[in-house]
Amino acid sequence: LPARYAGSEKSVWVEYIQLALENKPLNLGQGFPDYAPPEYITKALADFRRSPDPLLQQYTRGFGHPRLIAVLAKLYSRLLGKEINPQTEILVTSGAYEALFSSITGHVDEGDEVIIIEPYFDCYQPMVKSAKGICRFIPLRLKKNSDVVSSGDWVLDRDELEGLFNSKTKMIILNTPHNPLGKVFTEAELKVIADLCIKWDVLCLSDEVYEWMVYKPNKHIRIATFPGMWERTITIGSAGKTFSVTGWKTGWAYGPANLINNLFMVHQNCVYTHCTPIQEAIAMGFELELTRLNSDECFFNSLPRELESKRDFMGKFLKEVGMKPTIPEGGYFMIADWSALASKVDMNSENDKYKDYRFTKWMIKNVGLQGIPPTAFYSEPHKHLAENCVRYCFIKKDENLKKAAEILSNWN
Ligand code: PMP
Ligand code: GLN
Repeated sequence: LPARYAGSEKSVWVEYIQLALENKPLNLGQGFPDYAPPEYITKALADFRRSPDPLLQQYTRGFGHPRLIAVLAKLYSRLLGKEINPQTEILVTSGAYEALFSSITGHVDEGDEVIIIEPYFDCYQPMVKSAKGICRFIPLRLKKNSDVVSSGDWVLDRDELEGLFNSKTKMIILNTPHNPLGKVFTEAELKVIADLCIKWDVLCLSDEVYEWMVYKPNKHIRIATFPGMWERTITIGSAGKTFSVTGWKTGWAYGPANLINNLFMVHQNCVYTHCTPIQEAIAMGFELELTRLNSDECFFNSLPRELESKRDFMGKFLKEVGMKPTIPEGGYFMIADWSALASKVDMNSENDKYKDYRFTKWMIKNVGLQGIPPTAFYSEPHKHLAENCVRYCFIKKDENLKKAAEILSNWN
C-alpha cells in the first residue's frame, strides 16, 4: 500500500453497511431516504429512454453535460447574485465525493496544510493525505450543557482557529449544513472564517451538499457570497441530496475559472466524463424547480418542511428513552449522547477501541437498531470527544421512525 494511504484502510461505511446486511436491523445508519424521490425525477429518467436522440446514450461533454451545466449556472447565478459561466466555472462529477477529491488533489501539494473542522465527513482526511497534505484539526465544542442542545451550541473557538492559520495553510474545508451535527453556520461564524481565509490567502472548500435541508428560522448562507471570497472558494453540491436520489451519484463544484481549471485537470485524467442519462434527468429536475423556486411546492422547500417534523419526532423519542440529542438546524442526521443508558449495554461484547463502536454494534445485534459511531468523524487525538455519542439518520418513512421509537422504548 502506498504510504499516502496508510491509516486509511478502514471505512465506517464499508463496515456498517456489511453489519446491516448481516443483521438486518432497522437502519438509521448510512444517510439515504428509505422512500421514493419526487416522481418527476425518476419519470424524467424513464421517459428519456424513449428519446429519439441516440447521442443521449453516449459520452457527453467531459466537464458536464451541456443541459445540466446550463441550468446549474442559472440556479447558482441567481442564488449568488453573480453571473456564473457554465463552461469554465462548473464541473459535474461522480457524486460530491469526486468533487471533493478533484478539489483537494487539484489544489493541495505535498506539505500543504489543510484545516478540517471536527466532526468532519470522514473522507476529507484520507483525501488530503492522498495528496500528501497535512491535516490540521479543530473541533466544534459544545458551549453549554443544558437539557436542550441545538447544533448551534457547537461552536469554534476563534483564537484556536486563528492559531491554525500560517504560511503553509492552503485550504480550509467547511461543511454547512453540517454532517453529522446538523450545524448551519451563521453569518457571523462564516465571517470569522472568511476574514482568516483572506488574511492568510487560503482557499475555502465549502461542502454544501445539504444546502436545501435547513430548518426554520435558520438560513443557509453561501460563503462564496462574502466580499473577497468568490475568488478563493470552491463550493460543492450533490444531486443525491438535492433530489433524494443518493444512488445517482452526481455532484458538482463551482467557483472561479482559475480554481475550477485544476479540478478539470484531475477529472479529465480520472473519470473523464459522468453518465449522460443521469445528468439529463437531473437537468430536467432543476429546470422544473427553477420555475417555482419560491413556492411551497418547490421540492427544495417541501423536503425541509417534511424533514422538520421527522427531526422533532426523533428528538422526542431519543429524549424519552434517556438519550441527550443535539437538535440539528439542518441536514438529516442527529447526534445523541447515550451515556445514561450505558448500564443496559454489554460494553465488553465487542473489542473495538472506542465505546461508540461497541455501543452501536451491540445495539445492532441485540436491539435491532442501527446508528453510526461518530468517532469515525474525528482525528485520533479528538475521538474521545464523541465516544458517548451515536449518529442517527431521520430521512426515513414515518412508520420506520415510529418503529425505531418502539424498538427503543421496548428495550428500555
Ligand atoms: N459531503 C457530505 C457532507 C456528505 O454527507 C456526503 C454524503 N455521502 C457527500 C459529501 C458525498 O455526496 P455524494 O453521495 O454526492 O458523493
Ligand atoms: N453521506 C452519507 C452519510 O453520511 C453517506 C456516506 C457514504 O455512504 N459514504 O451517511
